Amino acid sequence: MGNNLLEIRNLKKTFPIRRQKLGLFGQREQMLAVDNLSFTIKEGETYGLVGESGCGKSTTGRMLVGVEKPNSGSILYEGKDLSTLNDREFFPLRKELQMVFQNTLSALNPRQRIGSILEDILKVHGVSDARDRRDQVVDVLEKVGLSEYHYFRYPYELSGGQVQRLGIASALVIKPRLIICDEPVSALDVSIQAQVLNTLIALQQDLRLSLLFISHDIGVIRYISDRIGVMYLGTLVEEAETDELFKNPMHPYTKALFASVPDLYICKETVPEFNGERPVRTDTFKGCAFCTRCPYAMSICAEKTPEFLERSSGHQVACHLYDSME
Ligand code: SF4
Repeated sequence: MGNNLLEIRNLKKTFPIRRQKLGLFGQREQMLAVDNLSFTIKEGETYGLVGESGCGKSTTGRMLVGVEKPNSGSILYEGKDLSTLNDREFFPLRKELQMVFQNTLSALNPRQRIGSILEDILKVHGVSDARDRRDQVVDVLEKVGLSEYHYFRYPYELSGGQVQRLGIASALVIKPRLIICDEPVSALDVSIQAQVLNTLIALQQDLRLSLLFISHDIGVIRYISDRIGVMYLGTLVEEAETDELFKNPMHPYTKALFASVPDLYICKETVPEFNGERPVRTDTFKGCAFCTRCPYAMSICAEKTPEFLERSSGHQVACHLYDSME
């Protein structure tokens, strides 16, 4: 694995809570979608971000490609802070940071042929020679497991798996260095999921791409990731290399997440179920984000936010259960 390509430091993003009466001075309470989030992605690495729906994974992905602006924190890409760039300054970097979405079809013009869709992306990024564009498009179609035949087809003529391959081709055609994959296989049948994941793994190794792979599916994340960050209510609660995380999960939320997939995790201990609704985390929130649902919660957990600390080599966790290890 190479050097750090992307360094995310103390990222924070809030959204106003809707349907709430305005306060005395007209302010709305803010929901913390992402809070104090820090992690790195190395060159040629696949970093998996996992957590239940609504935990801030997709908001994080959108901030990395400039679709959302963080309230604070930094996104360092080769030393340049992306969070401070305006659209014009960000434009040249779009070539290097691309995104693949869950529902590729909804982002495409149904009346445009696939070849023309991909060529338009190249035009926007300055490839002016028509022959060149055509060659590059056919090349990328073949790389993702489609073919020249699909150049003349329309997106609606493709199967679900082929549509996601087209999504990968759209990201890949301008030769990015980092692709953010936001639930790219969630809507696919399991057999097709494996094919698309294998294509991504092969491309990542051939082209030495870095991937941020976002998913709620712990099986998919385990299959594709070199390192995994477990996210809960907008913040990382645990991070480790994939094998280490599955051998030795430490955070109660990670353990419960693994135990919820019986085929995947031979549980060495009985993990009590966590119950209750996921709370909304606001600016006034204090203590551990998992406190209201954690079967191991202690009095300190409601008062003090646990620090995200390294407990063994490369394995970090935020939980007061391990305070005595400091
Ligand atoms: Fe549970 Fe406390 Fe650990 Fe949070 S800090 S996960 S509430 S034991």
